[in-house]
Amino acid sequence: MSQTSDEHAATDRTVGDGPYSRLILRNVTIVDGTLAPPQGPVDIVVEGNRIQALYLVNSPMARMQARTRPEAGPDGREIDLTGHWVLPGLFDCHGHIASANKAPSVQYPYDLWLAHGVTSVRDPGCFRNGLDFTRREADRSADNSIAAPRIAPYVGFGEGRDEPFREPDEARAWVASAAERGADGIKFFGYEPVIFKAAIEEANKLGLGTACHHAPITLGGANALTTSRWGLTSIEHWYGIPEAMFSGQRVQNYPVDYNYEDEQQRFYQSGQVWQQAAEPGSAPWNQLIDDLLEAGATLCPTFEVYATCRDVEKARTSAWHSDYTAPQMWDFWRPNPHNHGSVFYDWTTEMEVAWRHNFERWMAFVSDYYHRGGRVVTGTDPGNAYKLWGFGSVEELELFREAGLHPLEVINAATLQSAELLGVGADLGSITPGKIADLVVVGENPLANLKVLYANGRVRLREGGELDRSGGVRYTIKDGIVYDAPQLLARVADQVAEARAKAGQTALEPLG
Ligand SMILES: [Zn+2]
Repeated sequence: MSQTSDEHAATDRTVGDGPYSRLILRNVTIVDGTLAPPQGPVDIVVEGNRIQALYLVNSPMARMQARTRPEAGPDGREIDLTGHWVLPGLFDCHGHIASANKAPSVQYPYDLWLAHGVTSVRDPGCFRNGLDFTRREADRSADNSIAAPRIAPYVGFGEGRDEPFREPDEARAWVASAAERGADGIKFFGYEPVIFKAAIEEANKLGLGTACHHAPITLGGANALTTSRWGLTSIEHWYGIPEAMFSGQRVQNYPVDYNYEDEQQRFYQSGQVWQQAAEPGSAPWNQLIDDLLEAGATLCPTFEVYATCRDVEKARTSAWHSDYTAPQMWDFWRPNPHNHGSVFYDWTTEMEVAWRHNFERWMAFVSDYYHRGGRVVTGTDPGNAYKLWGFGSVEELELFREAGLHPLEVINAATLQSAELLGVGADLGSITPGKIADLVVVGENPLANLKVLYANGRVRLREGGELDRSGGVRYTIKDGIVYDAPQLLARVADQVAEARAKAGQTALEPLG
């Protein structure tokens, strides 16, 4: 039941080299994703699509054993990467792959993601594209007939049904059919508790993941702790978490003229909810962390898309829009009550200040949860609120850093923690011999400055007074296939230019 035409599908793959019988990434420093400190120089040996060995160039052990440095052999490839850093492929656990109203085709988000080292995404809902289309794209990505990150389709709960669920058994049957149709998981916005609980239980029985954006309209008062105890796998964004710490109120302080359908009002009010909950470090705060840990909850905060609420002008004027934002996307973002999330009709100082305070407590909670042993993962909700695929993934890393995670912890969240959420931690998420070779190669130390991962680099003043814009991922390796990241970014610019020409535009249209 595809809702999307094949024109929106990715093009057959024409970029990327390999996999090779043997690929040597020579002389790199690795950040392996496990929280181990950086190590180098290392030669990474990849055979086919698997990491075969890590050769520590200066290790006394290697010298003692008189081990010789690995060679690529006649059919292999060796890349001298002296001075480069290598990370595991990054994850976007809240990565909508773009519907036709937001992108010229899904190749556009794929290229943006790969250009930023993102090799795995979870599509929460497959909205507009539908599960069947998204499953096909996931399969084409899995066999590398397209250039795309790995895709885990989470189908929207109830997709294809005209009627709401009335009985728990209907929900269970629907979950079973979603599994048969190839869903890796299910995305919820909440539901009447008796139905929602049955669906989560059935999903767990069948090995499907579950993700929920706790929208207060359908939850009957259930918060993120309630649903985590039912077995929900991941809490998307943050809704439902402060509500689990309320005392003296069961709902947020809605003004009496509140209307959930007025999105600007909804977003402004939701920017005050953490302030209505408990103080960081207080008894209810720590109790909730204990309870969520016990329930095994994962937090997928998507800070990046909400960062627009605390500084809309920054989001609207980001440097990458001029060359890399598709006209469909720009049009969707124009303040418009009909476009979800395009809510900045007349966004005021008061609203931004409320959101900055909201962020302080929200970030403290995510950081505390992680440091107490909880799983937190990176996701971006791209295509919303002036936020783009790929660029947003790097911004999310910067926001995790701001939340209080050490840069190594940030990379851990974006790699191994995310892989474990998706149930692929045995194969992905760290630079470990035996695992699949999904890797990011970057020319500078990303722990010292995460901005070096932005595909358009960053501006800096060189010694001698020269200004330049440089940085960005050099290669993204997925399944042992080596992609030239700047080449992918150039393809994005081409797609944008072509889409603008089709729309009769030559540049980014002014907003006013
Ligand atoms: Zn989303």
